Formats: sequence, C-alpha cells, structure tokens
Amino acid sequence: MQDTSLYRAWALIDTDAMKHNLSVVRRILPNHQQMAIVKAEAYGHGLEGVARALDDCDIAFFGVATISEAARVRDAGCRTCPFILGPSFPAERDIIVQNGWRAALSSPDEADHYNTLGQLYGKQAHLHINVDTGMGRAGVLPQDLPALVEHLSHLPHIHLEGIYSHLSAAADDISFTHRQINSYEQAVASLPATLPYSHLCSSSAVFNYRAPSTNMVRLGRILYGYSPMPSPYNRELRNTLTLYSRVTLLRTLPENHGISYNHTYITTGPTKVATIGIGFGDGYLHYLSNTGARVYLNGSYCPVLGRVTMDQIMVDVSHMHGIQPGDVAEIMGPNVPWQEITTRAHTIPSNVITSISSRVPRVYI
Ligand SMILES: *Cc1c(COP(=O)(O)O)cnc(C)c1O
Repeated sequence: MQDTSLYRAWALIDTDAMKHNLSVVRRILPNHQQMAIVKAEAYGHGLEGVARALDDCDIAFFGVATISEAARVRDAGCRTCPFILGPSFPAERDIIVQNGWRAALSSPDEADHYNTLGQLYGKQAHLHINVDTGMGRAGVLPQDLPALVEHLSHLPHIHLEGIYSHLSAAADDISFTHRQINSYEQAVASLPATLPYSHLCSSSAVFNYRAPSTNMVRLGRILYGYSPMPSPYNRELRNTLTLYSRVTLLRTLPENHGISYNHTYITTGPTKVATIGIGFGDGYLHYLSNTGARVYLNGSYCPVLGRVTMDQIMVDVSHMHGIQPGDVAEIMGPNVPWQEITTRAHTIPSNVITSISSRVPRVYI
C-alpha cells in the first residue's frame, strides 16, 4: 500500500468491498448482467482504480458520462467496453464509432448521423435505444419508438444492441415507478425482435422492483456501498471509501474567541481546538458549516466549529487527551457515514461523494 504519512487528506478505497457489493446484487439477480457505473471518478473512488479492479469481474459495460471518461477506461488498459449513458452531441460521435464504444440513441436524426459515420469507417455503430418512460432527460418517447425502430431497419451501419430507460423516482414514488416499469415493458414488447441487452433498474430499484424484460442492471451507488432504498439487503453492503485527514495543529483558545470566517462560532470557555487539513477544496462541503458535523478522531467524535474553509476545518477536542499533530481523523467512512454528511449538508449522497476533489489522493487496498 502507498505510504500516506505525508498526506493531509486521502481516500482509502476498498476494492474488495466493491466486489462484495457486486456479489450481493448477483446473488439477488442471478440472471442479470451488470453495467458498473464509473462516471464522475467512479463516484469519487477514482475512475482508473475502480475500472482496473472490476475489469476481470465479468461486467458487461462500464457506464461513463463523457467520451473523455470512456477514453480513460480504454487507456487504463481495460477490456470492458465503455457505455456513454447520456445523449452524445454530434462532434462526439466520430470518436464513439471509431472506438466501438456503446452510446444512447434518442432520435432518427442521431441514427442517420451514426449510420453515416459507420459507413465512413466501415464499422457498425453499437447503440442502445433510450426510451423516455418518465425521466424527462433524454430518449425517444414511447409513442415514437415504433417509427424509430422502423427507421433503423434502413440503416445498415447501425447495430441495435439494446434498449433501456431510467427511473425518475424509484426511491420515493412507488406508484409512478410501477407506471414507468409498465411503460418500459410495453416498449420492449413492441420491438420486432429481442435485443441482446435490456436495462432499466439502477441502485434505487435493484432491490425493490422487478422488470421482467430486462437482463442487465446499472450499478452506481450500490457498488459503492450505498443503497437509496430501505431493504433488508442494505445491511449486507460494505463501505468502500474512507476519507481521512490529519491534525495539523493543536491549540487552546480562550473564552469568547471567534473561530473561522465570520465568527459563526464563538468559544464559551477555554477550548482545545484541533485544526485539520481538509476543507471544501478537498470536497468537505462548505454546506457542512454549523450543522453539527463531526469527525472521528482517536476513537471519539469531535464537532466541527464554525465554517468550513477551503483547506482546513477546526474541531473541538476539549474532551480528549494525548492528541498530536499528525494524528489521523476519519472525515467520512464507517464511523461517519456519507448518509450522515448528506443529511447535514441537505444534499444527496452522490453529491457528497463526487465532490471529493483531485487534490485528495486515492489509495487502493
Ligand atoms: C448515473 C446513472 C446510473 C447510476 O445510478 P445509481 O443510482 O448510482 O445506481 C444509472 N443509469 C444512468 C442512466 C445514469 O446516468
């Protein structure tokens, strides 16, 4: 393992835990393949590190958001093919077709362009039709699907490899989700032939819904140990990322001393304060200021005092003895779950985890 002794803040990534989380889904859905989502630095875990760790795990595709992420999967030496999840604008398509990456299809115009490029390079464009069953972000509307499919039958350089859709409120609106699933099932049933891939459910749906026509699930958060839906399986998921930082300075401040910008916290008595080398520049969100956020240091919780700054936070260690500069604090992990940080920052878990910045080295075990 990398030497972390000079790191102020780093993220320890447990790829075994990730594989374990994958195995939980495989046990529950033994007949489904998986797309592992590695977009946005693999949810803060580091794109190359995660892609390399999962490349031998029989993953059907690596889900990415951009062609540069797809190129990073390729350049990491991975054999698993990238799948670009959102719509691709015209200038991106050339590179997609040349590399044989998978892309989403929403319209006949896109199909025509892909077909032209396929002809130009003597290749097939491997596409999955995205059906908009209610997400309202991309895809063909269900009523326009038959015309799109008919159109494709005239385009020899398109290999229609799959169909998919995305749920908009699986964790929150069960009846709307069932309507989306029904709409998706009807769309798949209307196709003239069965396609190699059909996929609808991602982390908020894999444990709680079934879509009979699908044979693949897209796994983001669950792979990284977080299930957005209540489920008995949640307990089986393992933490994959622990964010650490170090005490840089220890001081005792007198009563009535303001701490951090704008003195939103003022000491009520002599206070032992540890300065810690992490801030919003590392992804410890500014929104955590004055929310009761806490770090875990030498076996004890220490509240964050005043505002989070770009590179540093201050925590109260008045109740503790024997702390030294250089001591390691857990900022997020098994003792400070991202759910807790999410609630305090009034955001969503993926926002917390994808905020961990490039300044934070990722260390893999
Ligand atoms: C990001 C993304 C996912 C992953 O979602 P999780 O809820 O994290 O599993 C799945 N499908 C699409 C289309 C996405 O954009």
